[in-house]
Amino acid sequence: MDKIRIVQKLDELGIDIIEGGWPGSNPKDSEFFKVVKNLGLSSSRIAAFGSTRRKGIRARDDPSLTSIVETDVPIAVIFGKSWPLHVREVLNCTLEENLDMVAESVEFLRDHGIEVIFDAEHFFDGYKQDPGYTLKVIRVAEEAGASTVTLCDTNGGSLMEEVREATRAASNSLKCRIGIHTHNDAGLAVANTLVAVSVGARHIQGTMIGLGERCGNADLSQLIPTLALKMGYSLLGARLEERLKLLTPTARFISDVVNVRLADNWPYVGRNAFAHKAGVHIDAMLKNPRTYEHIDPALIGNERRISISELAGRSTIQYMISKMGYSDLERGVITKILDEVKRLEARGYHLESADGTVELLIMRNLGVATRHFSVLNWTVEVQGSEQTKAASRVTIEVNGEVLTEEGIGVGPVHALDNALRNALLKKFPSLEDTKLADYRVTVVDSVEGTAAAVRVFVEFVSTDKRWCTTSVSRNIIDASLNALVDGYTYKLIQEKRKKDLPQVKL
Ligand SMILES: [Zn+2]
Repeated sequence: MDKIRIVQKLDELGIDIIEGGWPGSNPKDSEFFKVVKNLGLSSSRIAAFGSTRRKGIRARDDPSLTSIVETDVPIAVIFGKSWPLHVREVLNCTLEENLDMVAESVEFLRDHGIEVIFDAEHFFDGYKQDPGYTLKVIRVAEEAGASTVTLCDTNGGSLMEEVREATRAASNSLKCRIGIHTHNDAGLAVANTLVAVSVGARHIQGTMIGLGERCGNADLSQLIPTLALKMGYSLLGARLEERLKLLTPTARFISDVVNVRLADNWPYVGRNAFAHKAGVHIDAMLKNPRTYEHIDPALIGNERRISISELAGRSTIQYMISKMGYSDLERGVITKILDEVKRLEARGYHLESADGTVELLIMRNLGVATRHFSVLNWTVEVQGSEQTKAASRVTIEVNGEVLTEEGIGVGPVHALDNALRNALLKKFPSLEDTKLADYRVTVVDSVEGTAAAVRVFVEFVSTDKRWCTTSVSRNIIDASLNALVDGYTYKLIQEKRKKDLPQVKL
């Protein structure tokens, strides 16, 4: 179950409370609560989610509340209305009855020994309409025994000054812990959470990489490092330093599992968050990383990336070569590499995001690249009727041995990759864990004034690494095949540096 794997990662990261879902709402959530009990989590407690009782019934007759009790969780997060507009127009009840609904629901759960976090839905909108009533709702929740009252910007449209003022008012009227829950509809979820913390909120609700409906919730992968590294708060339990290093891997793991692509430029955890390309930036960076980095990427498990483009200078190439672990350079080799980079960029290559292609280019120039296989020939056949189907056959040569394999796919490139993979796996079973994570094609504006060409990017992923290769050609299949061959070759060379494989010098 994906949700269980995510819980385990969040536990390792040191998250205190994980909302596990709405018990009784669907069989999957009920199953989840059963399984999670036996995981032996070390940092995280699992909370059930639900709402205050419906109007006109007693709390003990409300199925949402009784299923929380039956789930046997230590904590419940229940949300209730705190905006008069919602009470009157959505619940269709009196402001008095809503107060009873809040109080009785919290008391009911407390009577069953469950800690209650009360989420005051639309707190900030409510505070703008009728501060007296909104504050009364949260006082009622506290008096009924809630350990934490969370102020929610449910519509995500509040501004920072509004959040500051209303959170201050809440903290003046409550003794219990105050929480903050923001949405990103105005792009302010993280900022609003930080403002609330600065005036006393100490319980933060959010999601990794800001997942969530509409524009998402406050992003924990931004909040955690900001609170820990810039504002000096202690969080994530005792082993903060060690756990912060899990931040980037955890964010990327979750993005993979839920199949939401993490943008390269995502703050802190994106691939490009610490990537440098302009020559002058790199020169300064190599003198002192603080010149162009707001924090050391290693603190949060991300890494500095130096990308090469036609702007690169000698020091950039020198840096990359030593980062790759090579020394004792032949005279003139850096000039050769720079010339090749410029030549490729002029042909329409964008090398800056293709780290695999750049490292191969450097290794070839250093004379250390080994070719483990070569493609002798290939065919692709595409058939269209109701559905397009493609079949491919690829012949490769490995150490003098020739073998041919076939593959099918939804399109020509997919079929070609499958055929190539099938052939490679026969000889290099270690490639089993190497997968294509992304494949993109763009049109190169103009290449030497001739017919349009395409630029292909392929992103590969294996258990512990990601790399990209690129190729440009007037033929999309040629470009794709080159990028695929380079991607697999890159992986085999990395492995070769650990153990021996059949090889031919290029
Ligand atoms: Zn929400």
